[in-house]
Amino acid sequence: MKQQLSNRINAMATSATLEMAAKARELRNQGNDIIGLSLGEPDFPVPDFVKEAAKKAIYENYHSYTPVDGYADLKQAIITKFKRDNNLTYTSEQIVVSTGAKQSLANLAMVLLNEGDEVLLPAPYWVSYSDISKLAGGVPVEIPTSIETDFKITPQALEAAISPKTKMMIYSSPCNPSGSVYTQEELRALADVLVKYPAIIVVSDEIYEHINFTKNHASIATFADMYDRTVVVNGVSKAYSMTGWRIGYIGAPAYIARACTKMQGQITSGANCIAQRATITALENPPSKIQYMVDAFKERRKLILNLLSEIPGFKTNEPQGAFYVFPDVSSFFGKTLNGTLINNASHFAMYLLEKAQVATVTGEAFGNPNCIRISYAASEKDIVEALKRIKKAVT
Ligand code: PMP
Ligand code: GLU
Repeated sequence: MKQQLSNRINAMATSATLEMAAKARELRNQGNDIIGLSLGEPDFPVPDFVKEAAKKAIYENYHSYTPVDGYADLKQAIITKFKRDNNLTYTSEQIVVSTGAKQSLANLAMVLLNEGDEVLLPAPYWVSYSDISKLAGGVPVEIPTSIETDFKITPQALEAAISPKTKMMIYSSPCNPSGSVYTQEELRALADVLVKYPAIIVVSDEIYEHINFTKNHASIATFADMYDRTVVVNGVSKAYSMTGWRIGYIGAPAYIARACTKMQGQITSGANCIAQRATITALENPPSKIQYMVDAFKERRKLILNLLSEIPGFKTNEPQGAFYVFPDVSSFFGKTLNGTLINNASHFAMYLLEKAQVATVTGEAFGNPNCIRISYAASEKDIVEALKRIKKAVT
């Protein structure tokens, strides 16, 4: 029978991160010894104090639909968190809790973009920004960068990419996949360009806020002239190792928050009630409670950078946050490795999966075709073994 799918879904790419993770899982189920470094997912269990809060919520009989935009006391905890960690002031009507930061991003694209609106994506960017924008009728406009500038855009490059159709800019800092962290001064320089174009809404994805080895997290929303046109996206997936609990949130101008709530009211009815209760406890505790995970990621970063430096052909920046390295592997393009011709980053990632049994993700999915992404949210043992295998496969 003919498949009757919409043009919308047919035009959408499968998430490269999730696709690679599924492929690794499938190969593992067939008995292959695959090391998965494709998914950005902390390997720590959820902290006990958060688990306790979830148990308590179950036994207190939380079970029903929540307010579409989140429990009032969770929104209050988010407001307190924004003030405590970011010096950002929001009222309750500016906060919307959703089923993961990914849904927050999808809401924003759906409520802000009209057909043909351009969305600036400093590249490399997180894989889903592009397809979420396209789903909402937007046209992604990549702003390329290179390893030489630590994968950060300059004010000049930003201005050159702006057109009368530009509606939105989305970026993450700390960045998935490059690990780059914009400083307050760098963000100010970008803001100085953006203030000249008041129609552009900035979506600042700060989900890796706490996984920042510089200890200085800056948000463009803290600038008075950007606050009214910036949406801060955050969530508990990364910092609290709560990826499967699916809670994200935004701090936004009230009219945008209202629109996102309207969207959720028709699409999800709001986020999971138990996970919301647990998130209150997660956010009410100081970030020092999760420092042990950040410290471990920092150690693993050192380990993986050392191991990568011993493999000829890999060129890497020093990521300042998140838990990824994004090496430039273009020196392998056009070469034959163990009988396999490597023409691009996708070939290379596939070669590593087949030959080294290590799952990574092609940089093409992140808007940089010279690189691959390796997640080091994995045990030291796995990192050491994976890099040993990669080295053997490419030398
Ligand atoms: N933004 C970035 C930059 C991410 O890496 C992720 C990873 N999942 C998300 C958003 C989505 O997070 P969540 O699990 O909250 O949907
Ligand atoms: N954000 C993670 C990653 O980039 C999880 C996968 C996803 O949501 O795409 O690997």
